Amino acid sequence: MTPEEARASIGQKVVYRAPHVRPDQPGEEGVLISLALSERDAFVRYGADTTSKLTPLELLEPIPGKHLREPFSATHYLCDSPGAPTGATHHFVPGTQGVMVCRYCNRSSSQVRREMGLER
Ligand SMILES: [Zn+2]
Repeated sequence: MTPEEARASIGQKVVYRAPHVRPDQPGEEGVLISLALSERDAFVRYGADTTSKLTPLELLEPIPGKHLREPFSATHYLCDSPGAPTGATHHFVPGTQGVMVCRYCNRSSSQVRREMGLER
């Protein structure tokens, strides 16, 4: 998929197809968490994994019409804070003003959603 397709697929299911997997064989489903800065790879969370794996965009395909039903949650997105473990998503804990804030980057979930273009 292209970087544009990847950006449009954030929070949605994608299929990973390894180079040795034929087009008629099933790939591996995952949720596209975020686009890497290089825009050549994306972080994808596969199956029951709790962290995401960096995957080349050329090996990913969108699943049309097979999107997550849940509303987009900021916890699905990779935390880019230097204090966050590699591949970790935002982890929200109660903050000082009664709002949930990420324990790594200290952003609120609505701030993260705004930055991801999910909320205005
Ligand atoms: Zn964070």
